[in-house]
Amino acid sequence: MTRRATAAPRSTSSTAGTPLPPAQQATPNDLDTAFFAGLLDERIGQAREKIAVLLADIREVTLAAKDTPADDEHDPEGSTVSVERNNEMALLAAAEESLVELLDAQVRLEDGRYGVCGNCGNPIPAERLEIRPEARFCVACAAAARRR
Ligand SMILES: [Zn+2]
Repeated sequence: MTRRATAAPRSTSSTAGTPLPPAQQATPNDLDTAFFAGLLDERIGQAREKIAVLLADIREVTLAAKDTPADDEHDPEGSTVSVERNNEMALLAAAEESLVELLDAQVRLEDGRYGVCGNCGNPIPAERLEIRPEARFCVACAAAARRR
């Protein structure tokens, strides 16, 4: 009698779970989310205040320009006013952009996707988030993005 070599069922069942794509990494467990929620709230309040101040400034400059004789071509005052207004507009655009970033970070925090680099999926160090709570990339990826 020949023994049939029964192929022993080799235990190949892998227990490795499906890895999550970096974009869906969860907020690191050791991150103090309550602290960052407070920090984001604070920064959002500051950004809104800044925008309100800039809007008031722009209105003031615009009104002041109306009061001065309309001789922009020759009046040095006139060009100063428009330069000032352009500066205020640039500051306003920057402040609005940072408010959008902060609000977006708040959504990520609520969704449990905060504090993870949106590019490489590594946790963003808490020290970096304390300085830039709206950061969506780790230092290395942010630096690489700036070089592009
Ligand atoms: Zn990264």
